[in-house]
Amino acid sequence: MADFRLLIHSARQIVQVVNNNKLVCKGREMNQLAILEDNNGCSIVVDCQGNIHAIGLDVEIKERFSDAQFQEVIDATGMCIVPGFVDGHTHAIWEGDRVHEFAMKLAGATYMEVHQAGGGIMFTVDHVRKAPEETLLKNFKANAHKMLEAGTTLAECKSGYGLDMGADIGATAISHLEHVSDEGISAMVQSGTIGVVLPTTAYILRLEPPPTRKMIDAGMGVALGSDFNPNAHCLAMPVVMHLACVLQKISLNEALVAATINAAASLRKSETHGSIEVGKVADLLIIDAPRWEHIIYQLGSHQHVISHVIKGGKIVHQKRK
Ligand SMILES: [Zn+2]
Repeated sequence: MADFRLLIHSARQIVQVVNNNKLVCKGREMNQLAILEDNNGCSIVVDCQGNIHAIGLDVEIKERFSDAQFQEVIDATGMCIVPGFVDGHTHAIWEGDRVHEFAMKLAGATYMEVHQAGGGIMFTVDHVRKAPEETLLKNFKANAHKMLEAGTTLAECKSGYGLDMGADIGATAISHLEHVSDEGISAMVQSGTIGVVLPTTAYILRLEPPPTRKMIDAGMGVALGSDFNPNAHCLAMPVVMHLACVLQKISLNEALVAATINAAASLRKSETHGSIEVGKVADLLIIDAPRWEHIIYQLGSHQHVISHVIKGGKIVHQKRK
């Protein structure tokens, strides 16, 4: 019997995101990342329950755990560790893709024209209602696996489409903020509501993006979600973060905070998820790059940048060599 489930050593950076048990980052706090960094390597130890047991420099961890047995050991030389991404808003249970509509919209069709041609949300509602439960479950499992491969280890999953599966997020967070006013922002700052921003939706529908910069500058906590659904067919949080940075003018740090601790907070899960801190669930990504920012910078290459996806201290996905 091993004493511990996992040891990851020799990492260049451990991007903890927060290291003081903070449950959500608001306003300027979003631009400050807690990073443990050392050219001689940093380590994480995961216990047999899948929780983070220790974080430190290689030298400290080596000494402290010199007699310990680990089920698995990962050498992360030259690589970085970030928390698994949290997707704050998806519709991952559906049936019937809408690729034909995408072509229609690019050819200039309006939402009403798509609707009249039998497309739009009613197309999905209809397909979902007619689909056997096993089909929906099979689709969901396939989508969840794709999410894992793209680094998402926790996701909100809205029922929608006339179904009642998945969890409700309640009033700690509001999503789809494409049309939020200045008064709306002030009200959310006052109430401490987290704004869940969905960059792919505005991008695909060519809408004015949500005023994310304004929300953060006003002191709000912002989270990110993919809004993955047959209309916005993107489940990769690295792409979502990239779009948020470029189109909504947020920094790389803010994007990572929004896709980890703040998205976890929007799901009321930030006590256990969304940062690399002792006691939290070991949902981790190993980034095959000398700096963590490569996961956002290398647009469309996340499958090459993510070396390992670890959930509860277990390797659930590994990049093909
Ligand atoms: Zn949505």
